[in-house]
Amino acid sequence: MAITRRELFVSIGKAGIPAAVALTVGAETLQAETIPIPSAAVGLLYDASICIGCKACVAACAEANDTPPDTRGDQLHQAPSDLNDLTRNVIKLYKPEDGSAFSYVKRQCMHCLDPACAAGCPFQALHKDPESGIVKWDSDKCIGCRYCTITCPYHVPRFQWMGFNPRVTKCELCSPRLEKGLQPGCTSVCPTGAVIFGPRTVLLSEAHSRIKKEPGRYYQGRVYGEKDNGGTQSLYLSRVAFEKLGLPELGPESVPARTLRWQRRLYQYFALPAVLYVSLVQVIRKSLKGHEQEAHEHEKETGLRAQL
Ligand code: SF4
Ligand code: SF4
Ligand code: SF4
Repeated sequence: MAITRRELFVSIGKAGIPAAVALTVGAETLQAETIPIPSAAVGLLYDASICIGCKACVAACAEANDTPPDTRGDQLHQAPSDLNDLTRNVIKLYKPEDGSAFSYVKRQCMHCLDPACAAGCPFQALHKDPESGIVKWDSDKCIGCRYCTITCPYHVPRFQWMGFNPRVTKCELCSPRLEKGLQPGCTSVCPTGAVIFGPRTVLLSEAHSRIKKEPGRYYQGRVYGEKDNGGTQSLYLSRVAFEKLGLPELGPESVPARTLRWQRRLYQYFALPAVLYVSLVQVIRKSLKGHEQEAHEHEKETGLRAQL
């Protein structure tokens, strides 16, 4: 969950830090830094407007990752309600109460150009491949701190809570399949082409050509992930607002860049930054505590739920 300036100011104020200093920080103009795009960046393009919600991709994802089908919902069908310790890819349904347009949405890792999960990982267990840009997890380096599960603005990495050697579960773009020259599991089975795999440049050009072909079909005539959160390698097209599908408006600046900018400004203006740092940690901890709860509340409010 992103922390707004207002929340930051209010919390700092409560912590007894002079408001004048906070205002000095707030006066800075928001500027997005250009994030380098890996030379061979690959990704997914998901067009929610042509997804039929068949969930073939969910089953294919589990098979490709050698994980058992998650039938814990009704003990019968593979119908996970969300990403979880067995599920790297989920299809949800956005169906508003007022009967207006519904939409399916596929959720998996966004493979951010500047991933907050990797920035927050103290041992680089989560890291971005410099060539493909795929955000991967290294079990040998992971100490199980679970920090990545709270730094990700898309609430993607999930941790196994059972077992002696728990793992982080998230989409790694089926890297072992790519190395064998295969497509990712999800794109290889999608019957409508709602999700496709390829170089990010090609996917972006395909997305823009669909928008050009049918102006007015897509929300805001834009591709989510082209610039959002500094850019992502999982890209989205949709008829309904991205926010309603669980894709938050994060602005063009990545979460790590924003955090770093705040940090720089705070250190620049304070001789004794420790006291502010403690306040910031409190704000972040409080915000992160409500992260999952708010995500679920938001889904409840907007009608986004598991596609059964
Ligand atoms: S979506 Fe989350 S887990 Fe995936 S790369 Fe971005 S920050 Fe990391
Ligand atoms: S790329 Fe692979 S791991 Fe990622 S959602 Fe598709 S099938 Fe699952
Ligand atoms: S396989 Fe394709 S059409 Fe079916 S749910 Fe997945 S993305 Fe949608």
